[in-house]
Amino acid sequence: AYNFSAGPAVLPVPVLEEVRDELLCLPGARSSLLEMSHRDKQFVDILHDAENSLRSLLGIGDDHAVLFLQGGAALQFSMIPANLLRGTGKSAAYLQTGTWGKKAIAEAKKEGDVSIAYDASGSNFDHTPGSGDYNVPDDAAYLYYCSNETIQGVQFQSEPPCPGSVPLVCDASSDFLCRPLDMEKYGILYACAQKNAGPAGVTVVVIKRDLLGIGSDKLPGYLNYKNHADNDSEWNTPPTFAIYVLGKVAKWLANDVGGLDAMEQANRTKASLLYDVIDGSGRFYTGHARPESRSIMNVTFTLPNDDLQSKFISTAAEHDLVNLKGHRSVGGIRASIYNAMPLDGVKALAGFMSDFASKNA
Ligand code: PLP
Repeated sequence: AYNFSAGPAVLPVPVLEEVRDELLCLPGARSSLLEMSHRDKQFVDILHDAENSLRSLLGIGDDHAVLFLQGGAALQFSMIPANLLRGTGKSAAYLQTGTWGKKAIAEAKKEGDVSIAYDASGSNFDHTPGSGDYNVPDDAAYLYYCSNETIQGVQFQSEPPCPGSVPLVCDASSDFLCRPLDMEKYGILYACAQKNAGPAGVTVVVIKRDLLGIGSDKLPGYLNYKNHADNDSEWNTPPTFAIYVLGKVAKWLANDVGGLDAMEQANRTKASLLYDVIDGSGRFYTGHARPESRSIMNVTFTLPNDDLQSKFISTAAEHDLVNLKGHRSVGGIRASIYNAMPLDGVKALAGFMSDFASKNA
């Protein structure tokens, strides 16, 4: 079946095959990676290799640390303000463009003063702001946004404007590695792995080294970024298996796909197949996101009524197109077409959508 789950989501088949082949005994080792100490040189090499693969894919320079953490993306909702806001007397600015940004704001408010510089809730989170739609003071603790709102299918097409003195912080959980980025623009960019980068269990945090010292020593140890950076993500036991698979996904992107430019091209091709069907359906399908804010990772749309939506989901499953139900909070249909979703899977879905519309319109 083609699996359109929003996450944990599809992994590249060659990666799964390699993991299967190496599961019982890691080549060159005397045990499975699952049984190996995180201090074992072989694992430490795997961790460094994963880090270096991410660095070369994204062009991450030495002024950023790359951390492999646990607690999911959700822990970052708290860790970011705990480190960069708590006790600073400053205010942090947030762009609220969907459910995940809203959740991040709720957690940040527990740590300090937060201002919502832009709020798209009034239009049911169907767009991202244009430049000039919001203001951020020069002394803000940081500007936070979610580059791709997984539930609404709304994606920033590029980084939002941010004063040079203010660190830009991005939740890239559901579009990490889907396109090249200018990492110099980011104070922090983080992503849980389970959409584009690997299995659930590891969250990648790329953080400018000059932000590491802001968090107080009084923070719980795990919550202080500096501890992880000073100890090469081995302040405590990191999620070894998830890091190992993530390293393989990064290599697949570099070697099999041809890098992030090629990946973006492929993702745009896949997404336009679905958006073209939506736009050509004579309003049988209605896209949730405004065209200029459409996500190339999560394509969200509705049908004329709930009965047709249920029929769409069950008939699609009979055609081996699974996990298309929209998030429970917004309903409708959501097709998540992350990096590892093959073009053939999207073609199959686009064909099914056209066929379903012509039979049911
Ligand atoms: N941020 C975004 C954009 C997400 O899509 C998700 C999960 O779907 C999260 C945060 C939360 O991730 P986690 O469940 O790893 O905490």
